[in-house]
Amino acid sequence: TLAGIAVLALIITTGVGYNMAGRAIIPLKEAYEKQRQFAADASHELRTPLSVVLASAELLDNDPSIKSPFLKQVIGDVRDEVKKMTKLVSDLLVVARSDNQALKLKLTRFDLGEVIDQTMRKMQPLAEKKNITLKREGEKEVFIRADEQKLKQLVLIFVDNALKYTPDGGSVSVRLSTPSPTRVSFDVQDTGIGISPEDQQKVFDRFYRVDKARSREMGGNGLGLAIAQEIVRLHNGIIDLKSEQGKGTTFTVTLRRGKE
Ligand code: ADP
Repeated sequence: TLAGIAVLALIITTGVGYNMAGRAIIPLKEAYEKQRQFAADASHELRTPLSVVLASAELLDNDPSIKSPFLKQVIGDVRDEVKKMTKLVSDLLVVARSDNQALKLKLTRFDLGEVIDQTMRKMQPLAEKKNITLKREGEKEVFIRADEQKLKQLVLIFVDNALKYTPDGGSVSVRLSTPSPTRVSFDVQDTGIGISPEDQQKVFDRFYRVDKARSREMGGNGLGLAIAQEIVRLHNGIIDLKSEQGKGTTFTVTLRRGKE
């Protein structure tokens, strides 16, 4: 048609077509980077107002002059939801930042066995609530050079998931071992619902949850394993996942022990 020819002529004479083709790839990367930066900035900016709202809700929650059961209930709900949102925002910040490697490691030498013991003590009440046996196996003490805070978070993510996705009466065990003098492994094994082979590929993706309703009910946001993977990647380690539906799941993390 005439209009078509006119457009074509315009493209040829102005070079619009060429530019568009040339731009198509690079802007994609830029757009992705912009989106990531936006997520990082947004979550960072949300932290302060959220902490103010949380502090206020806690203040109200502890105020003895508030007697109405209805008000108490509402305040409790606000506090719980803000707590969830605070966790989501701080998780989001980690995954959004991680792409440009803004996440830096603070390396020190510490006992990974002690980090595991601490985490298990922390999770013991939760395990008891579900009548789940928490077992600690393997080596007691293995010193490594790594980011202690991040490894605490790492162990917690796996143990927390193991408890979440294991029905009442099951068991969760954490085993520490040294497969070679330079490497350390820990695995978190549960007798839970398991993960299907198709889902095993996806569970490390951001926001991916096999059963959204169930996960949300458990307080999950689908970022735990994405963060775990990022922490392990930053340490140049590997995560291995073995799972059978209805039987249980084992996550194994292997890291270099690092220099003395
Ligand atoms: P969530 O906050 O939903 O737990 P995660 O990123 O930690 O998010 O995990 C992603 C999904 O992987 C979960 O929603 C769950 O479906 C599955 N998953 C993780 N750990 C286990 C486990 N130990 N047993 C069974 N399913 C698991």
